[in-house]
Parts: sequence; C-alpha cells; structure tokens
Amino acid sequence: MTDAPILIIEDDPAIRKLLEISLEANGYSVLHAATAKAGKIEAAMHQPELVLLDLGLPDADGQEVLSALREWYTRPIIIVTARDAEAEIIRALDHGANDYLIKPFRTGELMARIRSALRSTQPDPGPSVKTFGNLGIDLAARTVKKDGDPLKLTSTEYALLALFVKNAGKVLTHQFILREIWGPGYIGHSEYPRVFVGQLRKKIEDDPNYPKLILTESGVGYRFAES
Ligand code: CA
Repeated sequence: MTDAPILIIEDDPAIRKLLEISLEANGYSVLHAATAKAGKIEAAMHQPELVLLDLGLPDADGQEVLSALREWYTRPIIIVTARDAEAEIIRALDHGANDYLIKPFRTGELMARIRSALRSTQPDPGPSVKTFGNLGIDLAARTVKKDGDPLKLTSTEYALLALFVKNAGKVLTHQFILREIWGPGYIGHSEYPRVFVGQLRKKIEDDPNYPKLILTESGVGYRFAES
C-alpha cells in the first residue's frame, strides 16, 4: 500500500460511509468530499493515489469535475454513479476516466477495479542506477555522484534532477515541472524552475554556461540529455 489516500467525491453520506469502510478494511487511507468544489480542492491539496467520483453532485456535474481534474491529475479516476446511460459512460471514458462502475455496486468488484487501476498506472521503475556521462544517479538510494564523488543536493534539487532523469530525452514544460515539484498551486511561478535549474547546473554540469545535461528548450521548458 502507498501512503497517498484515496479521495471519495460523493454527496450521499450512506454511500460515502460504505466506500470509506470498504477502503479502510482493504488498507487504504481515505479522504472525502461531498461537493464538486470540495473534491477539486481536496485533490489539489492531497494528491490522492486514486479518485472515486460520483456524477450526481449538488453543485456541479461530476463530468465537469472529471474534465477539471484531468487538466493536471494523472492518477486513476473511477466513476461510481447511478447513471447507466451509454452516452454518459462513453463521455466519462473519453474524458479520462479509467473505469466506470454503476450503483448499486458490489464492494468486492470495486476493490478489484481499484487494484487494477492502480496496477495499470504503476510505472516500470527500470534499473535504479542511471548514468549520464560522468554523472550517476541512484534513484532507489537517492544519491548522486559526479566523477564518482557524492554530490550534495537540496531536496528540491534532487526532486528536480530525479524528474529529469526519469524523463530523459523528453521535453518537460515549465508547467509540468511546476506541477510535479511544487504542486498545482504554483502554476504560473515560472521563475522557480529557472532558479533551481540554474542551481542544479552549477552542481552537475562540467560547465554550467554550456550545459550538456539539462538542455534549454527555448520558450517551452527543459530536456535532459539521454544517457
Ligand atoms: Ca450523488
């Protein structure tokens, strides 16, 4: 089990309670919200492992919550609703729901669908030690070496480097970096990545003025050189 909770967005207190009891019995920690607005706030604040989302919410349609979450939230979202119209199901799946369960549901089946959704989004970690020229990063031990000597990085510098290394060769936008490292509340603070990339370059690059590892993609973001 992970430490991150599962978020239940559901306005019916009886169903919320049933979900909470079932999830906790299966070892998950649980957060809940009774409205669309509270659900979006809880998701942004707590970065849940998975979201169970009702469609019939008092202040907005759950389909709107789904679309709003999918602008930044990448973990699984399972719709749990009384609505059984095919058009509703198709719309939810097309807008980023991982699964769709119609009430009344069987709790055993829901737990199996949660396990399946969590498995399918677990990235393959690959080998934990990655080398890029004279730089070595051990993602399991969270250590970094340059020319064999340990480097001291702050926790933010390390988080940023690990994000680059896991996405080596891919262009990471400023927005993506902000969301991953600082959270969705920091979108717009584009100076953060620039400052921390500058610090990181001083520590890992042979010549920070001519970076060979963290490459600038002008106006877009950064790309870490492939090993
Ligand atoms: Ca409802």
